[in-house]
Amino acid sequence: MSIPTPSSKLRVLIAGGGVAALEALLALRDLAPQLTEVTVLAPNGEFVYRPMTVREPFAYPRAQRYELAPIVRDAGARLVVGELAEVDTAKRLVHTAAGAELGYDELVLALGAHARPRYEHAITIDDRRLDETLHGLIQDVEEGYVDSIAFVSPGRMAWPFPLYELALMISGRAYDMDVRLASTIVSPEDSPLAIFGSAASAAVAELLARANIATVNSAYAEVPRAGEVVINPGDRHLQVKRVVALPELYGPGVRGVPLSEHGFLRVDMHCRLVEVEHVHAAGDATEFPVKFGGIAAQQADALAEAIAAQAGASVSPQPFHPVIHGILLTGDAPRYLTARITGGQGFSSEISDSPSWSPVAKIAAKHLAPYLDRLDRAGARS
Ligand SMILES: Cc1cc2nc3c(=O)[nH]c(=O)nc-3n(C[C@H](O)[C@H](O)[C@H](O)COP(=O)(O)OP(=O)(O)OC[C@H]3O[C@@H](n4cnc5c(N)ncnc54)[C@H](O)[C@@H]3O)c2cc1C
Repeated sequence: MSIPTPSSKLRVLIAGGGVAALEALLALRDLAPQLTEVTVLAPNGEFVYRPMTVREPFAYPRAQRYELAPIVRDAGARLVVGELAEVDTAKRLVHTAAGAELGYDELVLALGAHARPRYEHAITIDDRRLDETLHGLIQDVEEGYVDSIAFVSPGRMAWPFPLYELALMISGRAYDMDVRLASTIVSPEDSPLAIFGSAASAAVAELLARANIATVNSAYAEVPRAGEVVINPGDRHLQVKRVVALPELYGPGVRGVPLSEHGFLRVDMHCRLVEVEHVHAAGDATEFPVKFGGIAAQQADALAEAIAAQAGASVSPQPFHPVIHGILLTGDAPRYLTARITGGQGFSSEISDSPSWSPVAKIAAKHLAPYLDRLDRAGARS
């Protein structure tokens, strides 16, 4: 079965329907609308604003959801509902899981990462069902049944924020309810949110200390049985009522392209796949160690510029130079963090009570953030 794509324009196929895919789509719409014909291949009918799912167990409204089809249509692109199964780089074809073939001139892999629980005896953060998995725990804290929680990050860091946000929000809820709660964050990072650089990290450490949350850094945890955390180096044993853990992330393991360790995609500074022509990648699927929506968007911008230039647009493609803007939810007023990353650790980092970027969004993305802001104002969430 073959889906025809007749065109003299540069045919761009974007696989994925998350942050990186939508940012690439909207960037191409702005940079090379007449020169590209874009198809989006995604299995999801909705784009879920994942960062806001951390509030769901606290009886806040659900995280925002937006229908994918109108966004793709609005960008002048075509949506194919389905999953990429394999890439034939020689023929420049993608095989879908349903057996269709889609040709491309340039392919964008924006497939995200697979999250897998690392610990059998912990509650693993899963943003598809956070309310379901954490609501009971929060009730137990409120009613005084749970008076100690360990928040554990496994060896390889998943997303940097949710563990800290949940620790701060649950501790805040315990304080509001006037119940005792001992919280400990165990993480392999050198200091809390080290990726944001020393200034921001020191301020986050102070915030945690004020919230009475202990931190154990440069530490690797095992959870051999319910309620026990073994911290190494040092073989320290921590007894708690509950353990909440981040998952471990694995790359999408795409068939037909070279993969690095754990199935991630290795890209150059313009987010082209190394060793393969005409294939680009952005977001959590790439080998870049910081898994963050704002980073996914910046990678998508870099590859969109490269593709637009290739299509003949007068764009001079800028390499990916990561700058991260993050809004840390605390249970009280949010904090706004900025860091320029080099060599895996931030420098020139800042933290403040007010944002330095606009529009103010948890996912700071040049094209997607203002676009979603307009949808929100128009009441166009699903
Ligand atoms: C609880 C939580 C809180 C977070 N907080 C923040 C925050 O405050 N700020 C921030 O910037 N980031 C935050 N993040 C991280 C951010 O959500 C991710 O980094 C971002 O979603 C990555 O975007 P992506 O497009 O690479 O992947 P995803 O958003 O995961 O999208 C991947 C897409 O690919 C699709 N897909 C998967 N397989 C296939 C296939 N075979 N074929 C076609 N399509 C496929 C999926 O359906 C999905 O649409 C948070 C994450 C979580 C879970």
